[in-house]
Amino acid sequence: MLSHEPNQAGQAAQTPSLLTLDHSATEQFVHRLGWPTYRAQQILRWLYQGRVREVDQMTDLSKAERALLNDKTTVGRSRQCRVLQADDGTSKFLIGLDDGLTVETVLIPDGRRLTLCLSTQVGCTLDCSFCLTGAMGLKRNLKAHEIVDQALTVQDRLEPGHTLSSVVLMGMGEPLANLDAVSDAVTRLTNQRWGLGISAHRITLSTAGLASRLNEVAALGVNLAVSLNASTQEQRAMLMPAVNRLFPLKTLLDACRAYPLPPRRRLTFEYVLLGEVNDQEADARRLVKLLAGIRCKVNLIPFNPFPGSAYQRPTNGSALRFQTILKQAGVDTFIRKSKGRDVLGACGQLGDLPGLLTPQPPSRALTPAEAGC
Ligand code: SAH
Repeated sequence: MLSHEPNQAGQAAQTPSLLTLDHSATEQFVHRLGWPTYRAQQILRWLYQGRVREVDQMTDLSKAERALLNDKTTVGRSRQCRVLQADDGTSKFLIGLDDGLTVETVLIPDGRRLTLCLSTQVGCTLDCSFCLTGAMGLKRNLKAHEIVDQALTVQDRLEPGHTLSSVVLMGMGEPLANLDAVSDAVTRLTNQRWGLGISAHRITLSTAGLASRLNEVAALGVNLAVSLNASTQEQRAMLMPAVNRLFPLKTLLDACRAYPLPPRRRLTFEYVLLGEVNDQEADARRLVKLLAGIRCKVNLIPFNPFPGSAYQRPTNGSALRFQTILKQAGVDTFIRKSKGRDVLGACGQLGDLPGLLTPQPPSRALTPAEAGC
């Protein structure tokens, strides 16, 4: 946990960097310095609203206070970032972590809207066969500050006057397998007094289906998206083996039915369309039946290929036919535009390609503890 980044005096920091501390740990920290509680909120505002990188930028602290802070700790923002720009305006940010790993974040413009797609793990706990991140395996969970730092890093680079319209926890990883860090990150993203002040209504958490944890998403106040991706138990077992062993399709749909949806909100179901695998008319008709009685919309995501992937994109015709069947049955259904494909920044294209070339261990059942349940 300790950050050994040298501080300005050239000494190793004695306290984990400020960003690693949540709200209450920041209060404890200022108390240890003998400072009043309100200093915590002042520091947090500098971190999340001022986006400072150095203690010396906290200009409403006295010189002596800054010197003391500098002596004890650092800010702890990530230092390395490479940006890959796709032709359609999508940017993929490769952010270097303290231990040398890299996390990927995607900024997706759509007209006047800007959507930020954050990662919650390096790699992924799960093994969905159509996803590049899944092929990487899990390197590690991200800490709360590493999730929020992605947003800060991107905001630093936004053009003046541009703000994020929405945030999706849909990048690398399974957010519900790292829920403690994710909920701490959501607090920092949403807090209006000292955090980034992004409304929870504008944040969506996407899960591959860790059914036992859905209600905890409701407690966070963010929107829930569930990646269904299949219309039968057998199909889901083939496409998403690990999560489907833990929570079979019926268990997942029962949990969705029991989900405490706030008034005027609805669940989102995501469905990756894999050409000639799950994009048939029969699939669409089965999907309609599966979703009966759930207040929801469906996002169809045409498969985004990556080198070595075994599936193909659906034809436009089959995607439209699929959408029409759902719409005619009264299910609001959208076909997601695939953005950023030329920089491997679209859904399911985040991950280390060289890793794909090395053989992966055979798939085996995850224990609930490994899946974070
Ligand atoms: N683990 C979470 C979030 C990460 S994946 C989840 O499964 O929801 C985000 C979305 O991208 C999911 O809906 C997933 O099904 C979809 N996806 C993964 N690989 C894809 C690919 N190659 N093409 C299109 N969508 C993909």
